[in-house]
Amino acid sequence: MTAKPEKIRCDACPVMCYIADGKIGACDRYANHGGNLVRLDPLTVLETSPDKLVPFMKDTGGSDWDGDLLQSEKSFITAVGAGTTYPDYKPAPFIVSQEVEGVDMVTVVTEGIFSYCGVKVKIDTDRHIGHEREAVLVDGEPIGHVMTSEYGSKMLSLGGVDHLTGGSKKEGRVTCDALLRLCNREPVEMQIGDISLVVQAGQPPVINNEPEKLMRVGCGSATIGMFAKQWVDHVDEVVVVDDHITGVLSEHQAGKLLDVPPTGIKILGRRSTPGRYFRVAEPGTGWGGTDIDDPLTILGPFNAKIAWQGLRLLMVSTTGEQYAYFVLDADLKPQPAEIPSALKRSAERIAENCEPSLCSVLFMAGAGGSLRAGVTENPVRLTKSVKDSLTYVSCGGAEAYIWPGGGITVMVDVMEMPTGSFGYVPTPALVAPIEFTLRKSDYAALGGHMEEIRSTADVLAADNRTLSHNQSQPHPHDHRHYRWKDGS
Ligand code: SF4
Repeated sequence: MTAKPEKIRCDACPVMCYIADGKIGACDRYANHGGNLVRLDPLTVLETSPDKLVPFMKDTGGSDWDGDLLQSEKSFITAVGAGTTYPDYKPAPFIVSQEVEGVDMVTVVTEGIFSYCGVKVKIDTDRHIGHEREAVLVDGEPIGHVMTSEYGSKMLSLGGVDHLTGGSKKEGRVTCDALLRLCNREPVEMQIGDISLVVQAGQPPVINNEPEKLMRVGCGSATIGMFAKQWVDHVDEVVVVDDHITGVLSEHQAGKLLDVPPTGIKILGRRSTPGRYFRVAEPGTGWGGTDIDDPLTILGPFNAKIAWQGLRLLMVSTTGEQYAYFVLDADLKPQPAEIPSALKRSAERIAENCEPSLCSVLFMAGAGGSLRAGVTENPVRLTKSVKDSLTYVSCGGAEAYIWPGGGITVMVDVMEMPTGSFGYVPTPALVAPIEFTLRKSDYAALGGHMEEIRSTADVLAADNRTLSHNQSQPHPHDHRHYRWKDGS
């Protein structure tokens, strides 16, 4: 009888899977290949060599590596595909060194397991996608909430340790899966109240099955300011409909300075300052992020002492996508009329000045004790070194913003990272690449795992996924990141 091959135990995360030969672990990242534990995705290497232009965004998993180990001078080993070490005291999977412009540099490379993580999503749209603090649901599970709006954009805060581990098992699983897909630039369908939303990094949002096209040019008041001059010779009154601030030309400071006379118009909303009105309607997916499809519903009767028959009125949304032209009749009621070409052009100009609507996904996480212990035996020194600008933090080679205050809390745009950078473990937590780059002497000073340092050339292999360095990102080896660049 032949002995059944033994399962091997993966020790790359607390799940500690037993994996049979030819099978993969619970996270799909590790497999048992003939008794060897292997990381399934290739290690991703970024190159700056001008003669090896592998497009950064079009990486499909193939390798253009040509076996030239001299490329190591121009290579940056990212943590994508590097693997994880567990438990905490073990050194990171790769600690590599190379000389860069006469300075010995070290990069500590690991795929961090983040329980404290989430994404901040910016959605460029005026349309109502839910009230502040409203829950965001995926498959009926809460995975986050609507945050404060920003100028022309709605914001979501998704994930976080409470949704990952503080709720039901299903909530944690669904949250982890949604975060993984968002970070890997895949679409995720969400529900906020009665609004359905599809979010995908780098793509326009789809709100109630309609892809959004444009981000507003500005609020209603700003739009009046920007376009007042183009309107004064062609129309008597302009109303820019906006859920935030609806602008009225004749009352606005811009209209006053251009000698636009009063028109007797009455806006049904809360007047803020002259020509600027709040709450003309409820939030929605209609004109300017309101719930209206007929702009006349925000107007009260014109003041008969001021208005006149034949008064010309343009109503337009903040993206210029909706506009309507009216002329007052003998009863001072606005009647639809054919829009003069100059005014039509101005609406088109508003649209032309709007940027395309996009979803942006920023991964945010805290580098905890375990991750830092993989870098040094004295983890707080790493935090200090990052704060002192001696250590540069990148995620898949992309610059990470480090929050002020304690800890190493990073934020990074997933569009700047190589595709497929993220994974998960079923604890549940997200797996994300993180690299710490610093001078070799500084690494020694912070108690780094010096005995684990290997040369970059030793790590490069034919099965690496080789991409060109993302030109929109600073290179982690650039001396300008470091405090010592000017001799300090
Ligand atoms: S979940 Fe993945 S990383 Fe964790 S032990 Fe299993 S195979 Fe290894």
